[in-house]
Amino acid sequence: MPSQAYPAFKPCPCGSRQPYAACCQPRLSGERPAETPEALMRSRYTAYVLRDAAYLQATWHPRTRPAHLQLAEVRWLGLHVRRAAGNTVSFTARYQEGRNRHELRERSTFVQEEGRWFYLDGVEG
Ligand SMILES: [Zn+2]
Repeated sequence: MPSQAYPAFKPCPCGSRQPYAACCQPRLSGERPAETPEALMRSRYTAYVLRDAAYLQATWHPRTRPAHLQLAEVRWLGLHVRRAAGNTVSFTARYQEGRNRHELRERSTFVQEEGRWFYLDGVEG
């Protein structure tokens, strides 16, 4: 589903309890870049939910960005941001693959360049 097709008034997929239009939509549309690492992390989770590979590539630091991004056939079930401090964000994301449910725990690192935040990399944790 292209991100623009997600209803603006519905709760944002990132779990912020804000309407999509007031949360991740302006990031995905490019109207308002994420101001903080947490906002970027949330918008990237939403991009995974909405399968917006172009946004994921655009917000990935060129140094670590994959040449081709193959999105896994999973259903994202929810995001919980555990801690956001400095340029790192620790989160738990739940997803379903086939009949199996999984949890992804990651600490992501972000870098800011020319006023814009980029995802650099992540480690388990
Ligand atoms: Zn959001």
